[in-house]
Amino acid sequence: MVLSARATTAKASVDIVTTFLARIQELADDPDALDLTFGNPHEMPLPGLSAALKAQLEPQSVDWFAYKTSEREAQEAVAAGLRAELGLDFGPDDIAMTQGAFGAMSLAFALLADAGDEVVIPVPGWFCYEPMLFAADLVPVRAPLAEGSFDLDVDAIARAITPRTRIVIVNSPANPTGRVYPKSSWDALADVLEAASQRHGRRIWILSDEPYRRIRFDGVGFASPVASYPWTAIDYSYAKVLLAPGQRLGYLALSPLLSARDRDELQAAFMPLGLAIGWGFPDAIMQYATPALEALSLDIPELTRKRDRMYGALTDAGFEITRPEGTFYLWGRAPGGDGAAFCDALAARGVYLMPGTLFDQPHHFRVSLTATMEMIDQSLPHILEVGSQLR
Ligand code: PLP
Repeated sequence: MVLSARATTAKASVDIVTTFLARIQELADDPDALDLTFGNPHEMPLPGLSAALKAQLEPQSVDWFAYKTSEREAQEAVAAGLRAELGLDFGPDDIAMTQGAFGAMSLAFALLADAGDEVVIPVPGWFCYEPMLFAADLVPVRAPLAEGSFDLDVDAIARAITPRTRIVIVNSPANPTGRVYPKSSWDALADVLEAASQRHGRRIWILSDEPYRRIRFDGVGFASPVASYPWTAIDYSYAKVLLAPGQRLGYLALSPLLSARDRDELQAAFMPLGLAIGWGFPDAIMQYATPALEALSLDIPELTRKRDRMYGALTDAGFEITRPEGTFYLWGRAPGGDGAAFCDALAARGVYLMPGTLFDQPHHFRVSLTATMEMIDQSLPHILEVGSQLR
């Protein structure tokens, strides 16, 4: 056995996803497959994205492709965006540029947590929290979201907290449910975390995982826990809003409400820890392009139409669907209650959805709305037919 125990545990915790991914990749050769699984693009990239990258390709100095940490102009563009979006006084030094949200989360773990510390994660939630925590020698502790509504369940988080808890990960807009949580949820969570931090004599942090922050429907507002609790770090990625997850760009942002002492200590550790986790900084071109990328977005009105088409057709047919307020996913209960059986029956017809088992929710399924409208229209009759067979 060559794998470390840590690697074995991390691998096992995500085996169900990697096995599913391998199966889906086999479809790549089938031009008729309707793949509504992962949040991958199914149309040509945004023209503005390639223009922004091309504009930075030609070297303008000898150090154009030298080692890059966090580039000042990228940090300034991010801070300006955050000030406008969240109404707090973020400065460029509050921002560490990273390789997407993945990179920002790894940096947060390295900055804040010691081996064996516990990190509370939402269930259902993104399937990479657990393997990332295992790989960082941290201990995931699951806190269920409210049954049925998938609201943030602050009491469940309170019950999950122990003297070893160091971080609570929250995710809004939430993958896979599409829920967006209101400020009142964050205020309640802040009270619980403040009391628990006092009780245990150790500060508990919030890591607010916000890669879908700009992808919301129907004018739903966005509240970040950063405004409710100073010991909050935000991780963000441009992969979702640009629908280009193969180009790695994101950041970790500290709350401007932190004390100057805590802020200074963390800021001074951004570069050394970015280096220590394996040069976790984005590539030069992505950083130079950040000011231009800040202004770009996938087509939200078109995404809304896709959400409406899928949500309308499924609810009209009697499916129990959580109405997505944000993200590009749609989350529902499988007719008959067996998510895997439902997805297998659809796969036999060449329509691929993600079974809820990947999120520890065997009764559910997830649809990625990054599919084209044509794919959605072609898949719907199959989904409805299989649904009525299994109901
Ligand atoms: N957090 C959530 C909830 C996600 O769904 C994802 C990607 O699917 C990530 C973080 C990681 O994002 P990225 O690949 O852009 O780093």
